[in-house]
Amino acid sequence: MSNEFETISKFFKPIEKYGDQKQFIVGQGDDCAVIRPSTYPLAISIDTQVESIHFFSDMEPGAIAHRGLCSALSDLAAMGAEPAFFTLALSIPKHINDTWLAAYSRQLANLANQYGISLIGGDTTSSPTLVQTFQVHGYLYQKPLTRSEAKPGDLIVVTGTLGDAALAVKKISEQQEVHPDLLSAYNAPLPRFDISRIIANKASACIDISDGLIADLGHICEQSQCGANLYLDQLPLSAAFKNEKMTSNLSYQFSAAGGDDYQLCFTIAEAEWETLPKQAIPLTVVGQITSDTQVNCYDKYGNPIQLQQTGFQHR
Ligand code: ADP
Ligand code: MG
Repeated sequence: MSNEFETISKFFKPIEKYGDQKQFIVGQGDDCAVIRPSTYPLAISIDTQVESIHFFSDMEPGAIAHRGLCSALSDLAAMGAEPAFFTLALSIPKHINDTWLAAYSRQLANLANQYGISLIGGDTTSSPTLVQTFQVHGYLYQKPLTRSEAKPGDLIVVTGTLGDAALAVKKISEQQEVHPDLLSAYNAPLPRFDISRIIANKASACIDISDGLIADLGHICEQSQCGANLYLDQLPLSAAFKNEKMTSNLSYQFSAAGGDDYQLCFTIAEAEWETLPKQAIPLTVVGQITSDTQVNCYDKYGNPIQLQQTGFQHR
């Protein structure tokens, strides 16, 4: 087992080389990283994940790395920012060895390469449980996609499919077999930069769905001082999800109240919606913003429906 400094130089220093090297003056290895100022606004977000709370202890190290980094990157996508560099604070229990660290850092390197981002620094400590904190930084080349500008009449749109990750979590917890598509929704979330780039300057508000659609749309409504009508039967579902043949209510529970998908939920005026290249990207209209103050859900018959659980609570 390597000591702290060997761990850093062996596993984390190599991840600095991805991303534009001109963006920093000093990278890993000194007391601070030093960033060259840019003319573009800098978006920053930090996310901590704790073993057994945010991921399963026995998950593959690569999947832990993937969920950690990509759920953090998802916040940059939801803001309309382009990722540039990141830091990692890693607290590792004694049982973690170099084989584990090699697999963990290999996946981080793959992702850093894929997104063109440099690991410019971090902190490594020992701890009774595994904790990973990613701070991600990105530049805004267009105006920030905030949560506070939704307007009554705007359409509510979601990307991809919903409920897959929450269904995977339930199946893993119950030690049932999990369809690979559901598992990869949980293990390998895709930050939706492909879509945030297209909707920036067109969407009125945006959030990534980490805690469940109803809860996260609720944040848009709160901050935009409006309400929403949500048509649960219109939520986009994957083939693997539909194949489970659940009752409508259970299906709504996962797709509307289940977290961990990291898809985007955005609002957009109808005129702007018409201009989006919809054939190229997976978008589904699921409701409309109202001048009400709450999120109202409707079933396929248009009847109001109240779900038992409306989102993931952190505490
Ligand atoms: P200090 O004690 O001055 O905070 P550290 O010993 O914590 O310095 O870290 C030494 C160097 O290694 C720093 O430049 C830090 O940014 C980097 N570093 C530590 N842990 C990580 C990590 N997990 N990933 C990337 N860089 C790291
Ligand atoms: Mg330190």
